[in-house]
Amino acid sequence: MVIGVDVYEGKAKKIIPLDDDKVVMEFKDDATAFNGEKKAQFRGKGWLNAQISAHLFRVLEENGVKTHFIGVAGDNRLIVERLKMYPLEVVVRNVVAGSLKKRLPLEEGTRLPEPIIELYYKNDDLGDPMINQYHAKLLGISEAELKEMEMTALKVNDVLRKYFAERGIILVDFKLEFGKNARGEIVLGDEISPDTCRFWDAETKESLDKDVFRFDKGDLISAYERLYERITGEAPARR
Ligand code: 5GP
Repeated sequence: MVIGVDVYEGKAKKIIPLDDDKVVMEFKDDATAFNGEKKAQFRGKGWLNAQISAHLFRVLEENGVKTHFIGVAGDNRLIVERLKMYPLEVVVRNVVAGSLKKRLPLEEGTRLPEPIIELYYKNDDLGDPMINQYHAKLLGISEAELKEMEMTALKVNDVLRKYFAERGIILVDFKLEFGKNARGEIVLGDEISPDTCRFWDAETKESLDKDVFRFDKGDLISAYERLYERITGEAPARR
């Protein structure tokens, strides 16, 4: 939804223009699931997602992945490069969970022999349908652009899977979004947070992500705080 001059408000974030090259990404405390059918608010979620995203964008940049991240601008706000977003969700999976269980007769928790990529068309009215490379071409995304996004998605997976494994967490699956910057480069955008990834404690297999809200598995904020602590090594300040 566009509100005021160029301010875009989504379900969990607001995008506020800063200048020609930069925008502010503000993380809200709102949570939605199942295409907006389930809604709630969690005090402190915006702060946790902003800080976790910033941390993971830094890890990716240090490992050679181009992202839109520029800096942190206060509690629940990041400054990011202005991008023209592709209407695409690129999902990478390492372990069977979520919608993959509905699509294929595979048991939850089964490790996949190699990571798989799925593409979804980002469109609320259509319920974000899964698409293939031919559909992507119809949407104006070239084969080369798609190839580059897929290669970057696999690199992100390599970096983050290792990073989380070293911290006792399984990176089950996650969703990425990409855009093009003013220089014509394809750059990783949006967020990388427990709202957009599945993280399981390697020992207990407990969810440390939005599945806690989707499937009423417990206290969302304490799950996100545990994740924050495991990746930053610091106890989060209570909001
Ligand atoms: P699934 O297809 O199993 O529902 O989701 C796969 C992964 O992508 C999960 O980590 C999930 O959080 C993420 N994902 C897929 N679609 C969306 C979406 O529309 N919004 C958010 N926040 N995450 C998504």
